[in-house]
Amino acid sequence: MPADKLNITAIGAFDDNYIWLLETGEETCAVVDPGEAGPVLEVLEQKGLNLSYILLTHHHYDHVGGVATLLERYGATVFGPDDDRIPFVDRVCREGDEIVLTDLDVTFKVLEVPAHTRSHIAFYSDGILFSGDTLFSLGCGRFFEGTPADMQLSLDKLAALPAETRVYCAHEYTQANCRFALAVEPENQALKARAREIDDLRAQGKITLPARLGDELATNPFLRTRADDVVAMAQKIDPEASPGVATMGVIRSWKDRF
Ligand SMILES: [Zn+2]
Repeated sequence: MPADKLNITAIGAFDDNYIWLLETGEETCAVVDPGEAGPVLEVLEQKGLNLSYILLTHHHYDHVGGVATLLERYGATVFGPDDDRIPFVDRVCREGDEIVLTDLDVTFKVLEVPAHTRSHIAFYSDGILFSGDTLFSLGCGRFFEGTPADMQLSLDKLAALPAETRVYCAHEYTQANCRFALAVEPENQALKARAREIDDLRAQGKITLPARLGDELATNPFLRTRADDVVAMAQKIDPEASPGVATMGVIRSWKDRF
């Protein structure tokens, strides 16, 4: 089954996390980054679903905290990065690996995208990307265990995916990210249009995801570290900031204080 036949919905967790639920209409499913078990158990019970697979992007508690409880209830196979800090991984995933979710008839390719954490991975299949805390809509994760150069490489890898790719990230940070993006690029017309759409969605309490990768390339400052206006803004903070890695470092530090 092509990945675009997957039904993907968000299960809210904590204040602003999304746990993504993947279904095909059969009685089984997968979840991505279950930081909490309670909300997942509730949805699976409501829908009468068995949990076959758990996909993990990185070790942070708000992404893996629910795994142990889910495994007490379901015999799911856990896919995750090569990192001792995640105790339940059955299948370690490395760059270029293809993971086959047989029960859902879908295959994901693994992309290593370090910087937020050193072992962070993303899962891609046929127009669908689970980007964890590496790429957010209009933002990116903090560089807890990596450098601006790491994040530049990681985001370049994601930016090379097809423009129609739908990006499923792990947090509803879009509106706050948008305020920062507008500070970086106040004259970006595509960004202004997105800001209006995002404000409308949030005013109605609606989710802003998934984002289209092509739209992110036109509006997300962390995917635009070689764009003239973004580099020029970075150079107002650090006149030495060149396009790419140096601009990435400057705008991330600015965002951390924003
Ligand atoms: Zn994280």
